[in-house]
Amino acid sequence: GTWTSEKLHQSRAENPFMMTWVPGQARDNIPNMTHGEGVYLYDDEGNKYLDWTSQAVCANLGHSVPKSLVEAAAYQMTQLPFTYGGIGMTEVRTRMNQLMAEILPGNLRAAVFPSSGAEANEAGIMMARRFTGRQKIISWYRSYHGATAAAGAATGDFRRWYGSDNNPGFVKAFNPFPLFFNHGGNGATEEERVQSALNMLEEQILNEGPDNVASIMMESIVGAGGCLIMPTGYMQGIRAICDKYGILMHVDEVMVGFGRTGKLFGFQHYDGVMPDIVSAAKGISGAAIPLSMTACSEEIMTFFEDKPLGWGSTYQAHPVALATAYEAVKFLIQNDIVGHVQHLAPIFEANMQRLADQHPCIKQYRAIGLFGCFDVQDLTGAIPKLQHEPAHDAFHKYKQAYHEAGLVGLHRYPHVHCSPPLVITEDELLDGFDRLSTAITVLDDALGF
Ligand code: PLP
Repeated sequence: GTWTSEKLHQSRAENPFMMTWVPGQARDNIPNMTHGEGVYLYDDEGNKYLDWTSQAVCANLGHSVPKSLVEAAAYQMTQLPFTYGGIGMTEVRTRMNQLMAEILPGNLRAAVFPSSGAEANEAGIMMARRFTGRQKIISWYRSYHGATAAAGAATGDFRRWYGSDNNPGFVKAFNPFPLFFNHGGNGATEEERVQSALNMLEEQILNEGPDNVASIMMESIVGAGGCLIMPTGYMQGIRAICDKYGILMHVDEVMVGFGRTGKLFGFQHYDGVMPDIVSAAKGISGAAIPLSMTACSEEIMTFFEDKPLGWGSTYQAHPVALATAYEAVKFLIQNDIVGHVQHLAPIFEANMQRLADQHPCIKQYRAIGLFGCFDVQDLTGAIPKLQHEPAHDAFHKYKQAYHEAGLVGLHRYPHVHCSPPLVITEDELLDGFDRLSTAITVLDDALGF
């Protein structure tokens, strides 16, 4: 039977467990969720929360799993829950591959289906290194690529400091954003600043030795780093640098892939940019089951026809995960969820603007599709360092107010992330912004504005 809240609390006190990016004792303040419906989650104390970040930007279909996913998972689990890829091929793997071939742009093809975003990146890094015979991976400071060894080393944000940094062959570059943001960029116009950023990257590559660089790896729209949309011409410039030096362009679509930004993939916002490797996860299954994907160009696929990729995991191409995700992707297409996101995008953006106008603690924001981020400033106009645990007591008050306003979501100060499930209605979206505004009013006050 169901455990009472009391029993749950008691058990947790007696049998502690770890949290991932926050200290273990943080578990004591997290609500115990019992069920979900649409964009809402319910806890064991009868509270109802609007999920304002789709959990970790993954529960894109909300918390009522479409029946087709449940049936497909149950059918696959009944028929054949698992075969290991190297021993038994399944129909569902072939079907998923074909579906991906139909929706992936250009000559991109699904190569492997691991379980997590980090693993999809590991596979992509291995592909790049073996295909080019080179070692170095260039990635951005403002990035997150996962917590496994190579993905963690490619990660630029503070989470690599715990130890995954100790991995040779990873080189960090500045994304253009911090340059513009902190120093106004190098140049009078955006075009000049973009060119300057690209020149610096090329100079860096020349110093690393172009023949040593396997790939440039980047999020098409940086997620955890604060919804960073690349300026016009920048991604095209990276593509050109990659072509010039035989470097592969690896785009991490783990957070924004499968519709979040109003396109199926984030890189499709940049005209004419076609990556060589694409990693995706989260939205591919709407988080109903763990599944990720690494896709690559036909050229890379052909290269591995007569040699192993040299990377794998037991649950790569797990049949139940594939069966579930197959239906999730079909649901996305048949219900034109991307069209729905495009329809809501102007309303989303207008409300981001409204809150930025209303709240003095908001310095600036960025928004695209149903993906947005506010940067919070302090009284001096400075934006505090990115971290999970708030530097300032004001953020604790904000977090409490957010909870009391009936929102649940991911907090990473100084960012306020906005990424509700893609199936949200207009009314729910407006309600969400009102709730958020209530919480940000508390933050304004607590910061002394
Ligand atoms: N890449 C990006 C852009 C992400 O946002 C994340 C997770 O947030 C990952 C990779 C890692 O995915 P996972 O946590 O499934 O390993």
